[in-house]
Amino acid sequence: MGVVHRYRWSMLVEQWLDQELDDDRAERVLSHLERCSECRSAAEEYACIKRALARLENS
Ligand SMILES: [Zn+2]
Repeated sequence: MGVVHRYRWSMLVEQWLDQELDDDRAERVLSHLERCSECRSAAEEYACIKRALARLENS
């Protein structure tokens, strides 16, 4: 899978993790993550960064 794929989905995944998506689009992201290991690992990475940032903000 290519750069365009990653770029397209990474924006959606970030919005999904930030809970900015409506139910329809959140569902689409979820079912994509189930099928696409590349986006799944990108999502995990982003979730990790988000947690680290949250810790920084709270300290
Ligand atoms: Zn994907």
